[in-house]
Amino acid sequence: MAGTVKAAILRGRKTVETVVEGGLNTVDTVVEAGFNTVETMVVEGRKKVESAVSLGRKKVEHTLLHDRGTMQAAVLHGREDVRIEDVPIPQAGPGELIVSVGAALTCGTDLKVYRRGYHARMIVPPALFGHELAGTVVEAGEGVSGFANGDRVVALNSAPCGVCYFCQRGQENLCDDLLFNNGAYAEFIRIPARIVSKNTLHVPGHVALEHAALTEPLACAVHGLEDSHPHPGDQIAVIGGGPLGLMILHVAALAGYEVIAIVKHDGQVEAARQLGAAHVVQTASIRAAIRDTRALTPKQQGVDIAIEAVGVPDAWQEAVELVRKGGTVNFFGGCAVGTHVSLDTNRIHYSNLTLRATFHHTPAMCRKALDLIASGRFQAGAFITGHAHLYELNRVFEKLMNRSSEIKTAIVP
Ligand SMILES: [Zn+2]
Ligand SMILES: [Zn+2]
Repeated sequence: MAGTVKAAILRGRKTVETVVEGGLNTVDTVVEAGFNTVETMVVEGRKKVESAVSLGRKKVEHTLLHDRGTMQAAVLHGREDVRIEDVPIPQAGPGELIVSVGAALTCGTDLKVYRRGYHARMIVPPALFGHELAGTVVEAGEGVSGFANGDRVVALNSAPCGVCYFCQRGQENLCDDLLFNNGAYAEFIRIPARIVSKNTLHVPGHVALEHAALTEPLACAVHGLEDSHPHPGDQIAVIGGGPLGLMILHVAALAGYEVIAIVKHDGQVEAARQLGAAHVVQTASIRAAIRDTRALTPKQQGVDIAIEAVGVPDAWQEAVELVRKGGTVNFFGGCAVGTHVSLDTNRIHYSNLTLRATFHHTPAMCRKALDLIASGRFQAGAFITGHAHLYELNRVFEKLMNRSSEIKTAIVP
């Protein structure tokens, strides 16, 4: 009897165990399947929510942009008269972009414009100004291809026509119909269709917008060096420690040339060394600068190439005195309208000098410049020595006029 009962109990326990185990497995499977389903639903749901949010944000941004109607922008009214005003937010016409300015950089040209109150070729007051910028696309006009909302871009300050005599010969910087764009000192800027299609570039994700904004001046510097046709081993003297002088010397040093920087101010000596100048000549007088520079060349014969990046007659004359027989002078710095310079014709002729004067940039140079910035070899950070808000623009220009050691200030609207 006892044996039968025991066997029955054991059988019963096994049955219970089997049922329980089976049940547990089933529960596990159900729970697991449930988890999977829930996870899938969560992931899908999140995706849906995210895309709805992004779509909604775009709609809201677009509506806000145009409901808001106005933006803050710097308006030049005349000599040393810049006012921060509410102006209409531009709208994108066919082929155009509206870019939310991430950073606009101060430039020697803008400083000249601020001082003079106009620019012969580009600006008649009252006008928006500022031309070195990078930002984010917030509106793309009808027919724009290659750019969409949210894209980070650098939009250059000009674009050539592509069809005139000069464009056809690869001298787009001299285009008969060069289209300029200004208005970077503002929250938003309209980019004309021709600049969108010919001279607007995508900024790689790892490049800060304020660094990308250096593309314009750097394109001029790269152009200036290439146009001087340097040869390996050349000694190159760069006159001037302003933003462009420093940029040219840095580009030349990166390309492996021995650079002699000729500068005036203490702060520029430091900057020139940091940016790769092999020698820095700092003197008050031009005569001493010529002597000290020649002393750094074989038999004091003079440098292979002298690039003038100041834009005053004295510096143009100095450049001609710096080069060796058969050397090249590049008058890179533009002087004020109506300036005349007297040069030693005997020296130019009997020393068989090549005189060049590089102006502006071409779309190809702009691409090279952004590539150089993106490569990380170019010390972009060294050129931006300050940050300021749009409403501080007057103070920034006053400071730049008083020749501090500032190179460029990033204006963040
Ligand atoms: Zn500039
Ligand atoms: Zn043209």
